[in-house]
Amino acid sequence: MSAAFRTGIVGQELNEIGEPGEAAWPELPVELRDCAYSPDRTGYDGVKSNYLRVGNPRLVLMAANEDQAGAAVRYAETVRQATGQAPRLSLRSGGHGLNASSVNDGGIVLDVSQLKRLRFEDEAAGLLWVQAGATWGDVAGFLTPHDMVLTSGNFGDTGVGGLSNAGGVGYFVRADGLTIDRLRAVRLIGADGRVRLVDAEADPELFWGVRGGGSQLGLVTDYLFQASRLGTQRGDASVVLQRASYQAADLGGFMAAWGDLMRSAPREFTSFLRVQAIGGGRHVVQATNVWKGDDTERALPVLEAAAGLAPLAGHTAHLLSYPEMVPTPRQAHYGQQQLRMRDGLVDVVDANLGAAVAESLSRPSAVLYEIRFLGGAVADVPSDATAWAGRSQEALAVLWTEPLGEAAQDDAFAPVRALSSGAYGAYASDLRPEFAEFVWPGPTGERLRRLAQRQDPHQLFNQGLRLAR
Ligand SMILES: Cc1cc2nc3c(=O)[nH]c(=O)nc-3n(C[C@H](O)[C@H](O)[C@H](O)COP(=O)(O)OP(=O)(O)OC[C@H]3O[C@@H](n4cnc5c(N)ncnc54)[C@H](O)[C@@H]3O)c2cc1C
Repeated sequence: MSAAFRTGIVGQELNEIGEPGEAAWPELPVELRDCAYSPDRTGYDGVKSNYLRVGNPRLVLMAANEDQAGAAVRYAETVRQATGQAPRLSLRSGGHGLNASSVNDGGIVLDVSQLKRLRFEDEAAGLLWVQAGATWGDVAGFLTPHDMVLTSGNFGDTGVGGLSNAGGVGYFVRADGLTIDRLRAVRLIGADGRVRLVDAEADPELFWGVRGGGSQLGLVTDYLFQASRLGTQRGDASVVLQRASYQAADLGGFMAAWGDLMRSAPREFTSFLRVQAIGGGRHVVQATNVWKGDDTERALPVLEAAAGLAPLAGHTAHLLSYPEMVPTPRQAHYGQQQLRMRDGLVDVVDANLGAAVAESLSRPSAVLYEIRFLGGAVADVPSDATAWAGRSQEALAVLWTEPLGEAAQDDAFAPVRALSSGAYGAYASDLRPEFAEFVWPGPTGERLRRLAQRQDPHQLFNQGLRLAR
């Protein structure tokens, strides 16, 4: 393998698929010519990268519609047939994927960011179709005038495509579950380049897999979601946002108290923590707490309890419309994000977790932790109902790290990894097969592997996090 194709920016080797440049690729079909960017075309530099990585693909195909997306997949297959090896094929929606696999070196990037349509299928029932290239800021803006929300993520620029096959841990996770739990159907382009509707009736096994199985089953162009109606007085999707910051002298004690609070909190209440070390064994904890809706009377007791967890360094609480919570700067991408991430689904939120987070943050590459309490509607779903098996763990713990390489990142995360029994594939900068086994453990992994073999026997969809076959 040539050195140029060994350069993986997230510290591990890129998937060793295809040796681009070593064999001639077939001519592009006519229907793809207007959307194809090779390095010699003006505009290539603007489309070759994502948020985490500068890419050097041989071809970027900016699909303007479903037909072009299907033709792009068929073209990748003709390259495979002509060269005897599948080209690297990255799927890109919002370009925010934390494992950076939505661009590559020497292969094809199939970008669907222009597929951005949103439309109600049945407004009264909250059913809406969202295309993969829309961002979560677009979705929040679309739903607000209807007083509806869809649980997603905390940043408006992240794409619907990368998150909606993988999981989705957002501000309404305890009330509404994961984003994949709100999915009712998808339109999926398989390895044959054909589009099919996938739902619980048409193909229950594939519908199981697309909810949490990532991108190894095909390209999703459209998602049918069930949004939830808030019924607020202003009719503008108002929620209560509480921000509290604490100086925690005893992180173990703080974490135990937070765990106790969250276990008994109403499901409308979601709490995300950010924890940073400030020296001398002390930590700053910043909580972003959201009450789903504008029922401040019901919210007040839990808001007060949250404010009383530890001495406060700062505190605000107010009503705002949900889109104001998801900043959507619509930035261009040029590999600007340098930090890398590790995550785990931790079994119990208690003093041991606090001690592990403190230990972890003392290690060289560690920057900060995010801890998101789960439970509620996440735990209502049986672990074999979707390809996201982790339904019993109490929290998602995410470590942001300096990009000092896999070993340093593993070392920093090790204390919390030891308390985890699963992970969220899309909230980590890790493409290694052992991480895939951790994300899709045991029977979930076996079932997903069989399904991927059925859907994509020649491993055309080869650039996201995937199980070794
Ligand atoms: C700043 C930031 C904040 C975040 N906050 C949250 C959060 O609050 N909650 C949360 O759950 N996650 C969060 N994430 C993680 C995020 O959801 C994932 O990184 C997600 O993959 C990004 O999707 P994308 O479409 O923007 O990424 P892309 O880079 O376009 O895609 C990422 C990967 O997803 C797959 N993929 C993309 N499009 C498709 C498609 N149409 N069909 C099939 N597979 C596809 C491919 O494997 C691709 O490599 C955050 C990420 C960032 C960078």
